Amino acid sequence: MWLTSSETRAVLDAIRAGGFDARVVGGAVRNALMDAPVKDLDIATTALPDDVVRLTEAAGLRAVPTGLTHGTVTVISGRQPFEVTTLRRDIETFGRHARVTFTTDWAEDAARRDFTLNALYCDAAGTVHDPLGGYPDLAARRVRFIGSAEERIREDYLRILRFFRFTAEYADGPPDAAGLDASVALADGLAQLSGERIRAEILRLLAAPRAAEVVSVMAAVGIVDRLIGDQCDVRLLARLAAIETALGLSPDPLLRLAALAGPKPGDARDAIAGRLRLSNAEAERLARIGLPDRAFRPETDAREARAYIYRFGADAFRDGVLMAWTASGAPADDPEWRQRFHLAERWTAPELPVRGSDLLKRGLAEGPAIGRVVRAFEDWWITHDFPSDKLELAKALSDLVKANRN
Ligand code: ATP
Ligand code: MG
Repeated sequence: MWLTSSETRAVLDAIRAGGFDARVVGGAVRNALMDAPVKDLDIATTALPDDVVRLTEAAGLRAVPTGLTHGTVTVISGRQPFEVTTLRRDIETFGRHARVTFTTDWAEDAARRDFTLNALYCDAAGTVHDPLGGYPDLAARRVRFIGSAEERIREDYLRILRFFRFTAEYADGPPDAAGLDASVALADGLAQLSGERIRAEILRLLAAPRAAEVVSVMAAVGIVDRLIGDQCDVRLLARLAAIETALGLSPDPLLRLAALAGPKPGDARDAIAGRLRLSNAEAERLARIGLPDRAFRPETDAREARAYIYRFGADAFRDGVLMAWTASGAPADDPEWRQRFHLAERWTAPELPVRGSDLLKRGLAEGPAIGRVVRAFEDWWITHDFPSDKLELAKALSDLVKANRN
């Protein structure tokens, strides 16, 4: 476990050697205690950033001052980066834009975090420190704001989204009532958030195991409309999640977003992509996923499916099948849909057996006719389900060459 690994201890010990204290904090402690995979490792310390750099370098580790004004130094230990941040206390204002000052008081540092289960600290001996009673919440799988939910949200409206996201990831019941009430009351504040911050939280929320359950609560109180747009359909999200599970696929947040958005014209999808600051590739995928195509349906000729895979690729085909399956309402264990989904794995699109240079050899002059014949041949080849017989190919090609010679 990362909390007590030698890499982690090397960082903690280096800082402690200078007479300071250092503890792992946040998601790493939470996830280790829940037996969930640990992603990034954050360390909180009473040492000032300059001391962190000096002490970790003296211990032979690499230190990069990544955010000195926030008190953060990235320390690399055994290839693993650790974000080491000096304990902080908010002064005058609170939250994301607060003026902060360094402190050596662990309880003050804990008090400016978001949820009780995110304010647990683990020291070098493996002892967990819990200044705000987060452990009982974690054990009961409850995501609760530290102190007054309304106050914490007013400090940083992103916490509304983090509340739902962590609930979907780690809770096993409905969203905490106080957190939900405060989120609803202050939902207007979501409009102040940048698309980038919303995007990251939404995609993580959608990828969470209990996304459909939590999103349906968010939809019922009008928060989904505000974030993604109207006419979202939580039932589609739930169906897609069930299909992914039945197929053993890991959750695909963009596909889930497309399902949740429901059947929408292209410009409405583009608007969602714009609002969530999706990358060009993601926006294109979102737009494409929304296009229904006969090729996806199990009752359609497998030829049409192969033609689609050839033209647009296996990934696009799989996206399309999953969305069409979801929209059809067929159950997650439907054998015909499952078979159509796997078609892309069983069939690899062959390469077009003709090049422009082949046509020159056949006496076609250089110029636009070459491209025309190649495209016409490709259409013929696709419509005839990718024949490979040499004679058949040669005949089709020479007919096309003849027709284009003049
Ligand atoms: P994960 O990395 O799985 O998303 P995490 O809890 O580590 O979960 P981070 O965003 O990495 O989340 O933040 C690390 C810690 O910093 C959190 O556990 C929390 O204590 C604190 N924190 C992060 N963002 C906020 C915020 N917007 N408001 C208050 N505290 C926050
Ligand atoms: Mg983290």
